[in-house]
Amino acid sequence: MTGELAGLTALVTGGASGIGLATASLLAERGADVAVLDLDPSGAHPPLRGFTADVSDDESVRAAVAAAAEALGGIDILVNNAGIGAIGTVEDNDDEQWLRVLDVNLLGLVRTTRAALPHLRRSTCAAVVNTCSIAATAGLPQRALYSASKGAVLSLTLAMAADHVREGIRVNCVNPGTVDTPWVGRLLGAAADPAGERAALNARQPTGRLVSAEEVAAAIVYLASPAAASITGTALAVDGGMAGLRLRPE
Ligand code: NAD
Repeated sequence: MTGELAGLTALVTGGASGIGLATASLLAERGADVAVLDLDPSGAHPPLRGFTADVSDDESVRAAVAAAAEALGGIDILVNNAGIGAIGTVEDNDDEQWLRVLDVNLLGLVRTTRAALPHLRRSTCAAVVNTCSIAATAGLPQRALYSASKGAVLSLTLAMAADHVREGIRVNCVNPGTVDTPWVGRLLGAAADPAGERAALNARQPTGRLVSAEEVAAAIVYLASPAAASITGTALAVDGGMAGLRLRPE
């Protein structure tokens, strides 16, 4: 393999669709040997190596991470990307829904990281990148549960960066805005007027368009790569300016 990541190995959770698939594909394109851990890895084709696991099930995560590490010969890069959405205010989701989303979005990341850490410790350029969201910081309406789960991912990213910096393991996250993935496609598909809803969504973006999965993947791969060797404990927004800009009304 040639490329800036030649000789490195990577594991991407939720790597069979959307941002995860774009990230796994770009890591492989740059020369890394890449494993994808997903509920259904069939969307990830060779050279990506697919492993079936549910991040909300500790046994399944342990088994898949062990199998992936063995197939790859180690893990240098971990991308904690698997996640699910939730819509509503605090009144709209019951305890079961809260626990389910936290189980996947927060504890899923904890389980995968715990299983991968012994392998990351053996790497000379270990990096973890978590897929967070602008929902962690932006105060989005109708996203109480999802925002809380991603706020926790942001805090955990910083805490993990502090805990593991002396071991040579960097930990960062990306905060995507609204990204054109199958996830957003499903939300739009459920609207009364999908085309009108997509146009309205584009118009709400400062750039006038959604972020692409490839743009988020490029940021994740940068943070994961040796080029970012001095970057740890950061959150990189990939949101077309959505969270940070205060535009004047047109
Ligand atoms: P997606 O639905 O296209 O892909 C998610 C992938 O995760 C799927 O392959 C799915 O099978 C897998 N997955 C879901 N639950 C899993 C589980 N329990 N165990 C293992 N795999 C599981 O979604 P996407 O838009 O690419 O989102 C990926 C990540 O990006 C999520 O963490 C999401 O919160 C985050 N994000 C997305 C957007 C957006 O607008 N699309 C914005 C900000 C953050």
